[in-house]
Amino acid sequence: MADVLVVGGGIVGLLSALNLSDRGLSVTVIDAGGQRPPASWAGGGILSPLFAWRYPDPMNRLTHDATARYRALVDRLRGKAGLRASDLHDSGLWAAVDGDERRQALSWASAWGVSCQEAPLSRHLSAAPEREGVWFAEIGNLRNPRLLKALRATLVGQGVTFVNAAVDVVRPGARGAELTLSRGGTVSAPRVLLCAGAWTSALLAPLGVRLPLFPAKGEMLLYRLPPGRVPTIVLTDEGYLIPRADGAVLAGSTLNPGDATTHPTVTGRWALQAMAASLLPELASVTPSHHWAGVRPGSDRDWPYLGPVPGTSGVFAAAGLHRNGLVAAPASAELLVRLMCGETPSLDPADYSLSGAPS
Ligand SMILES: Cc1cc2nc3c(=O)[nH]c(=O)nc-3n(C[C@H](O)[C@H](O)[C@H](O)COP(=O)(O)OP(=O)(O)OC[C@H]3O[C@@H](n4cnc5c(N)ncnc54)[C@H](O)[C@@H]3O)c2cc1C
Repeated sequence: MADVLVVGGGIVGLLSALNLSDRGLSVTVIDAGGQRPPASWAGGGILSPLFAWRYPDPMNRLTHDATARYRALVDRLRGKAGLRASDLHDSGLWAAVDGDERRQALSWASAWGVSCQEAPLSRHLSAAPEREGVWFAEIGNLRNPRLLKALRATLVGQGVTFVNAAVDVVRPGARGAELTLSRGGTVSAPRVLLCAGAWTSALLAPLGVRLPLFPAKGEMLLYRLPPGRVPTIVLTDEGYLIPRADGAVLAGSTLNPGDATTHPTVTGRWALQAMAASLLPELASVTPSHHWAGVRPGSDRDWPYLGPVPGTSGVFAAAGLHRNGLVAAPASAELLVRLMCGETPSLDPADYSLSGAPS
C-alpha cells in the first residue's frame, strides 16, 4: 500500500507527488490519461493570473513568486525528457490597460514588489497597433507540456508509481480512503489527494462537498514565427499572445463555461485568428500550425479550494484553479503537502478551505 494516493496527474498532482516523494513518502498517481486530457497540457503557461491586480490577495499569495518557483524547478529538472532552461522563457508581460486601471496595476506591482513600467505596445511589438499599457519585466511563461513530461520522468526515477485508470468512487475510511477504479478493483491509502482538475467536483459531490465549480473549455492556436518576432507576452481583454523561446507564438484563448468537450472547433479557430491578427496584423496571413482545446477546472471564486475534505480524515482536494492553475500550482502543491504532512503551512489554510469561504 502506498503512503499517499494522488488522483489526477495534471500539474497540481505531479507537483504534489514530487513534494511528497521528496519527503520520503511512497506515492501512487492514478490518472485517467487520454480519456480526460489534463488542462495542464493545454494551457498557455503564462506565469501570472492574467491581470493580477483584478484578483484578491489569496490568489496573489499563491502566484506572485511563480516565475522564481518555476525557475528553481526547471533548474532541478533540466535535461529530463528534453527540458531546457529556455522552456521557462523570461519574456516579460505587456498588459493593455489605461486610465484608472493603469494606476491600479502600478500600485499592485509596488505592493507585491514586482517591477512594472508604463509602456505603449509599440515599444515591445513593432508593427502592432498603438495601445497604452504596462510592462512587467519579471513575468515569464512556461512550456508546460515539456515540464509535465520532465516531472513525470523525474517522479518515475524517484520510485513514484503511475496507474492509468479513472477513479469512480472515493470511500472515506477512518484514515484516508478506498478508491474504486473504473477498470475494476480498489486501492486504498491513509492519505489521498483529489486533484482531478475539472473532474474533481464529481469526486467531491458524493462526499457531500458542493462547491461552485464547472468545466470551462478553452482553445488555443500556435503560430510559427522567427524567434524574437513577438518578444513579450501581449495580454489584452480580447486575448493574448505568448512567445516561446523558439519563435512559436501561442494565441489564446476562448472561454466556454459549462463545456467539457476537448475537441477544437471552427468557431474557436476563427475567433482566435481574428484576435491574433488584431494584436499583430501580419498574423492575418500566417496559417496556424496547431489548434487544440482543454477543459479548465472552472470556479465562480477567483481563487482555488485547497485543503482537507470536510467530514474525512486524510482526504485532501485541490479544486477550482480555473484559468490560473499553472501559475498557482507550485504554491498550491506546497500548501497541500504541508497540510497532508502535518507541517505548518506558510499560507493561511483558512483562505483556501473547502468548508466555506472567507474572503
Ligand atoms: C486553453 C487554456 C489556457 C490556459 N492558460 C493558462 C495559463 O496561461 N496560465 C495558467 O496558470 N493556467 C492556464 N490555464 C489553466 C490551467 O491549465 C489549469 O488551471 C490547470 O492546468 C489545472 O491543473 P490541475 O492539475 O488542477 O488539472 P488538470 O491539468 O486538468 O489535470 C487533471 C488530471 O486528472 C485526471 N482525472 C480526471 N478525472 C479523474 C478521475 N476520476 N480519476 C483519475 N484521474 C482523473 C485527468 O485525466 C487529468 O490528467 C489554461 C487552461 C486552458 C484550457
